[in-house]
Amino acid sequence: YAPVHESAEAVRRWLAERPSFALFIDGRWQASHDALPAIASTNPATGDLLAHIAQAGPQDVDAAVAAARRAQPAWAALSGADRARHLHRLARLVHKHARTLAVLETLDNGKPIRETRHIDIPGAVRHLTYHANQAALVAQTFPDHAPHGVAGQVIPWNFPLLMASWKIAPALACGNTVVLKPAEYTSLTALYLADLVAEAGLPAGTVNIVTGAGDTGAALVAHPGVDKVAFTGSTEVGRAIRRATAGSGKALTLELGGKSPFIVCADADLDAAVEGLMSAIWFNQGEVCCAGSRLLVEEAVAEPLVAKIKARLARLRLGDPLDRTTDMGALVDRVQHERVAGLVARAVEEGAAPWQPDIDCPATGCFHRPTVLTDVAPANVAAREEIFGPVLSVLTFRTDAEAADMANNTRYGLAGSVWSETGGRALALARRIKAGVVWVNCTNKLDAGVPFGGVRQSGFGREGGREGLLAYLKRRDRQQTPDTDAE
Ligand code: NAD
Repeated sequence: YAPVHESAEAVRRWLAERPSFALFIDGRWQASHDALPAIASTNPATGDLLAHIAQAGPQDVDAAVAAARRAQPAWAALSGADRARHLHRLARLVHKHARTLAVLETLDNGKPIRETRHIDIPGAVRHLTYHANQAALVAQTFPDHAPHGVAGQVIPWNFPLLMASWKIAPALACGNTVVLKPAEYTSLTALYLADLVAEAGLPAGTVNIVTGAGDTGAALVAHPGVDKVAFTGSTEVGRAIRRATAGSGKALTLELGGKSPFIVCADADLDAAVEGLMSAIWFNQGEVCCAGSRLLVEEAVAEPLVAKIKARLARLRLGDPLDRTTDMGALVDRVQHERVAGLVARAVEEGAAPWQPDIDCPATGCFHRPTVLTDVAPANVAAREEIFGPVLSVLTFRTDAEAADMANNTRYGLAGSVWSETGGRALALARRIKAGVVWVNCTNKLDAGVPFGGVRQSGFGREGGREGLLAYLKRRDRQQTPDTDAE
């Protein structure tokens, strides 16, 4: 790896050329027609201003959707092999710019450079490459299906470029065109991606990127020119989007929040479970939709496990996200920082006992020490609400039936994990958990080829794998030929 500062220099040069960003519509950068005030994008670790981001209004969204509509028939009419070539070119460019993108993501989001380098950016490349390969096969795999048309996609701030790739890649592979709205806190890597889309030579209008806050997202999903809506974010906004699209005939997938159980049986390898927890709840500052935020531990091993967790956290390095030895960086924004602190305070008021390691923590910036809450009653806010921060709630169980009941005692159903050295016990318990995915003796295992998504209030629809492609296809009418679809 080149030293981080070389890539940081490349990022500084890129930002210096673009102190304020336009919108990427119809293959080029266009000033906003609506002239809404720009959004300041800051580095949450330092508070430094990074750039100003345009806020797209209704006219801008109109222009982006119109560009996507114009481009869609020709994009869908390309052979699968040609679409694959375009996507492979884009994947190669993201790979080529990986170091710069990693630094940009770390500056914008606050997450450690080690994670952006090893997880976010390689994950984005993997998604683009996987779906480039699928593009060549879609017509054979799904001969009775056609693309929806224009996909309106809204994403959150926790894995900005990775989420953008999760959305864009399958949509394009299937012959849809895209209008993407990144989250207002973290739009910079999506804007960098726009430059790469242009450099890769994707036809104008195939990918459009409109920045802005919730109003921009609301205008996009409600736009009559959008055929398919894909949203990742909070359950509250997901609910609003479902209402806004009800009866419109638009296809919809929602990837929402979670309060995932991390179940440790008495016969588990406790050291492995502790490492699993590091990934489940302290990876990405806990800003992970499938974070294992509820530790359900069998009473007999609760004490030794909590002692091991505390010993491990005492060695965790919290601080400068650009330092390659940092384990945990800053939360994404002041609002999120205050929200996490507020929820922890409420949990304590409701009887939970808080513990934090005595580790260095920068005095300024949105840093929050990793937190363990014990004595958490099932009714405590920390057992029920998604905190979306580095906070683990510990609850205990006596029997597997009780563990399953506790695991399912939530409005969510995104993920879960079970830790036991007895395979049959682990699998039996896993089967009882109502969630989109349950991992056994591991956690946070995701791949472009494997569908991911929730049940209950964690949403519906899947991203990744065969199911993820189907979400961007509709059954072709019997009378329709592939040609009429491309007209
Ligand atoms: P959020 O719902 O506030 O925002 C997500 C996106 O939606 C942003 O781009 C935002 O600008 C936009 N938005 C806000 N209001 C909108 C509206 N009315 N119409 C359309 N778009 C609107 O969520 P967030 O705070 O950015 O992200 C955190 C939440 O996202 C957490 O609850 C987390 O669990 C969830 N999340 C889920 C997954 C998943 O795969 N299930 C992944 C990441 C995050």
